[in-house]
Amino acid sequence: MTIRTVEVICTGNELLLGDTVNTNLAWLGQQVADWGARLGREVCVPDDRNALTEAMRDGLARADLTVVIGGLGPTQDDLTRPVAAAVLGWELAPSPVVAAAIRAFLAGRRLNVPEAAIAAQSEVLEGADVLPNRNGTAPGFWCAVDDRVLVLLPGPPPEFETMVREQVWPRVQPLLEPQFIRAEIQVAGIPESQVATTTESVDLAGLAVGYCAKPERITVRIEAAPKQAATLAAVAARVRAALAPYALPEDAPTLAAAVGQLLQAQDLTLGTAESCTGGGIAAALTDVSGCSTYFLGGVVSYANRWKEAFLGVPGETLAQFGAVSEETVRAMLDGLLAHYGVDCGIAVSGVAGPTGGTAEKPVGMVVVGTAVGSDREIRVFQFRGDRAEVRRRTVFAALGQLRMTLLARTLDLTTINHA
Ligand code: AMP
Ligand code: MG
Repeated sequence: MTIRTVEVICTGNELLLGDTVNTNLAWLGQQVADWGARLGREVCVPDDRNALTEAMRDGLARADLTVVIGGLGPTQDDLTRPVAAAVLGWELAPSPVVAAAIRAFLAGRRLNVPEAAIAAQSEVLEGADVLPNRNGTAPGFWCAVDDRVLVLLPGPPPEFETMVREQVWPRVQPLLEPQFIRAEIQVAGIPESQVATTTESVDLAGLAVGYCAKPERITVRIEAAPKQAATLAAVAARVRAALAPYALPEDAPTLAAAVGQLLQAQDLTLGTAESCTGGGIAAALTDVSGCSTYFLGGVVSYANRWKEAFLGVPGETLAQFGAVSEETVRAMLDGLLAHYGVDCGIAVSGVAGPTGGTAEKPVGMVVVGTAVGSDREIRVFQFRGDRAEVRRRTVFAALGQLRMTLLARTLDLTTINHA
């Protein structure tokens, strides 16, 4: 058999109620695209026998590989095992091997689970390959029927992802006929239209390009036929060169990582002074492993009293211009660099909303200041969106602004070196 088409069935009332965000779908979509195949369809069904039966029959009728996620637990609402048995016409039988594996897993974690739960999860589908689950109790199943495969996997993301990587992929790989290969380039600092015109000014050798714009970055995706690997590499290199310096480095594909790389290369340290983001910029910076070599720390100063006490913002500045002002942000930066021994700084103050806006300083107005040595850049943004969105955009604007200043320095240095 050959796998060309892949579909997924997500199960669980919690997904349809909005209690759980369907992260497994997003993760699998990326994974399957990395395999060079397309996820052709996703169906999300409640914990209901009829709905699940219909979805499995549909999947088997249409796709070479159907992945069913969830419903393998020990409780009444976990129906995937019995429904698959009915759809496939296979028996369910207790497996002493699986029961022993579950007991070993539980013993290692000092967990006590009722015997009935162990018994339910040790029932295996006769005719299926049992897929061991080293992060949980429920095993998965690889059910090959004629020229089709139905895979059943548990829902908790750490179990699901590990089993796709370790159990499913090695079985899929020999059967897979990849449909495409792709390269991705992440870009930040210029608008999507400019990314597109720059990309399309390059000789793309007829390859298809697509764009995905998010507040943090724009992804340029280039696709090619599996046999065009050399062409794809050459085109991607040309596009990357055309988008320099805005393309994020391949080994630092987020703003925070790219900023970190630039700071390290220039041997500079950074501190943050955050008001409206409440530590979000520090959180993004510290998402990057190894950040302690350049990121020294941050001050979250909401009250004016704290801006004065911890950042030395003059009381008169706050009184005269207000907390959300270019003057206050400049003073926050000055205090940060003067008091905390950092070479660079980020300071932000804004009206995140939904309350607190005025005609002069509406909700979404944010002042972003960055400092590199004695250089200062202070910009006023007017963001749209709710509180979370305003705060999120502030984080990216601040990191993007610092990145541009740091990049400009490397470009100047290069020009001077070459002169
Ligand atoms: P189940 O295997 O159905 O018992 O699911 C167990 C856990 O996995 C529950 O906490 C679910 O919310 C979670 N889960 C199931 N499906 C998904 C999914 N598609 N994305 C994220 N979490 C999921
Ligand atoms: Mg469930």
